[in-house]
Amino acid sequence: MKVLAKLKPEQGIWMSEADKPEVGYNDILIKIKKTAICGTDVHIYNWDEWSQNTVPVGMTVGHEYVGVVAAIGEGVRGFEIGDRVSGEGHITCGHCRNCRAGRRHLCRNTMGVGVNRPGAFAEFLSIPADNAFKLPDEVTDDMAAIFDPFGNAVHTALSFDLVGEDVLITGAGPIGMMAAAVAKHAGARHIVITDINDYRLKLAKEMGATRTVNSKQENLNDIMNELGMSEGFDVGLEMSGVAVAFNDMLKAMNHGGKVALLGIPPGDMAIDWNQVIFKGLVIKGIYGREMFETWYKMAALIQSGLDLTPMITHSLPIDEFQQGFDIMRSGKSGKVILDWEA
Ligand code: NAD
Ligand code: ZN
Repeated sequence: MKVLAKLKPEQGIWMSEADKPEVGYNDILIKIKKTAICGTDVHIYNWDEWSQNTVPVGMTVGHEYVGVVAAIGEGVRGFEIGDRVSGEGHITCGHCRNCRAGRRHLCRNTMGVGVNRPGAFAEFLSIPADNAFKLPDEVTDDMAAIFDPFGNAVHTALSFDLVGEDVLITGAGPIGMMAAAVAKHAGARHIVITDINDYRLKLAKEMGATRTVNSKQENLNDIMNELGMSEGFDVGLEMSGVAVAFNDMLKAMNHGGKVALLGIPPGDMAIDWNQVIFKGLVIKGIYGREMFETWYKMAALIQSGLDLTPMITHSLPIDEFQQGFDIMRSGKSGKVILDWEA
């Protein structure tokens, strides 16, 4: 079968052939329809330090996908051939304390589809059946293909009560933009989003941000005055992984504010701890999606009218994957979809 794989230890990604994956006793085989390119795939493409230390050369990459069930392991119940599914890309161990307590997103032995085990940029993907999520009809293939990053946004945004709250999001990448949409849908008041990329800020506005801020040109104090916010933000969602953005956020938070951290800083990150201590801030780290609470919430948000379509700025047939990666790397995109059936 056709796959996109990291064939050489250098910048790039290559179309290649691989054997169709085995379907174990508890697995399902998914025939892939559409995939989306994640920031992680771009890291692997660029072959940065993290990828070099994490991803074996030869790995089939990709973990954002939608497809249909094409084969079912003997031990699997609850799925039928032809079911339309997406799937959780974190494969958990099932035997650690958190897994056994039903907190699978906190599993300490997580393996990543398309990172530590063969991924979804392939005609077929085999995963444990209990990592698959059956999709309701209202969720289109394009939406389902981005459920993985949408889940990061939903998990982060719904960590704290947003109703009537003032929310600051730092980083208008795809995940920050989707978090703005979730905050709007959930009933937040001001949803201020920062970035240094005007293309993305414009898209974030379409997605539901009430005020966009290019942090190279404007500062948050002025924006807070403009909006009549004398005290500060109630909820902060850090989605850039950039130290200056996080430090600006800490300064802009109200006392007792709540901050969820999704963005991954490239290394150590210094902050002004006095902001945390004297304001009594609550800080929560976020990894992945809750299995499967986040997935049910995502489906329900779409069924209740949340619209993510402005996010999909490019759709290409799989053979044009190089162009897809080039667009993603330019920063001038929302999500880029690669169609395996086109
Ligand atoms: P992305 O890289 O597309 O978005 C980050 C955005 O931050 C970019 O648009 C960039 O222009 C912006 N930015 C840069 N400097 C800034 C500044 N000074 N102020 C404000 N914004 C600034 O990434 P994404 O795919 O949207 O993901 C968001 C973050 O979440 C990334 O750091 C990613 O690595 C991380 N992530 C974490 C998890 C997790 O489980 N914790 C999962 C997926 C992604
Ligand atoms: Zn575990």
